[in-house]
Amino acid sequence: RDEPVTGAKRVILAAPRGYCAGVDRAVVAVEKALEHYGAPVYVRKQIVHNVHVVSTLEQKGAIFVDEVDEVPRGSHLVFSAHGVSPAVVQGAKDRELEAIDATCPLVTKVHREATRFSRDDFHILLIGHAGHEEVEGTMGHAPERTTLVNSPDDVATLIVPETDKLVWLSQTTLSVDETMETVRLLRARFPHLQDPPSDDICYATQNRQVAVRKVAEDADLVIVVGSSNSSNSVRLVEVALEYGAKAAYRVDYASEIRQEWLDGVATVGVTSGASVPEVLVQQVLADLAFAGYRDVDQVVTAEEDLMFSLPKELRRDVSGQP
Ligand code: SF4
Repeated sequence: RDEPVTGAKRVILAAPRGYCAGVDRAVVAVEKALEHYGAPVYVRKQIVHNVHVVSTLEQKGAIFVDEVDEVPRGSHLVFSAHGVSPAVVQGAKDRELEAIDATCPLVTKVHREATRFSRDDFHILLIGHAGHEEVEGTMGHAPERTTLVNSPDDVATLIVPETDKLVWLSQTTLSVDETMETVRLLRARFPHLQDPPSDDICYATQNRQVAVRKVAEDADLVIVVGSSNSSNSVRLVEVALEYGAKAAYRVDYASEIRQEWLDGVATVGVTSGASVPEVLVQQVLADLAFAGYRDVDQVVTAEEDLMFSLPKELRRDVSGQP
């Protein structure tokens, strides 16, 4: 932007934003694997859904593949934070790959629920987005006993087997409000529907939605830093619009912010998805400052201190822990 703007302009910065514990663990897992085993280290799918993270790891020697059969026998292969189905784990074993499982523990929790409910003869209604890697991984834990519910609009036409044992589970990165609406409609159609033992939408998704709501109440424009395939980032744009922002856009990089978005805008809200490094937010703030939005107030709606230990294969090999 070559024309600095002056005036009473400000930024409200949402907190929590950016990296969650599962993303941090998965990214560090690839970095540690590269340090310890040497390049190349293969990664099935994007380790987390962020183009900057993926290209940075590629420069360090990570090779991203879609499926295990693209990986040379005997190589190290990291499973992404979104998790995999048992069939993928078996495929890696069959190829004698050294697998490192960076599945977020909060996704693994949903996998365990799916496995247990399936074993106990339940049919599972999985609320989530078709084609998302996490959904494919979770459905793979109970493939014969899961029906995907893509949106509230799907509920009326769902075909579900006749059974008394019906439970819903969900993807971890959905809109809390929309999921509750889907559950309400499901319960109206299937009154015996059981709830999961605990929330499947993870703490990070929920906290970032609460924070962006607060910011959106006072913002003319909300900028969400995050990639287009990042479910939780895309949800943040939707939530910002629902909760009062006049406009909301998602960008991967500060350079994507268009001058016309700022026309007549006094207050810009800024946040980032759970897979987004803070450096990308700082670049957005720097560009906004250049455009006259120099005052930055941070709105903190929760404190986060959760951390996950590295995948067990790396703990064993890198730090000698059992
Ligand atoms: Fe885990 Fe939630 Fe982060 Fe996904 S968004 S990696 S489920 S903490």
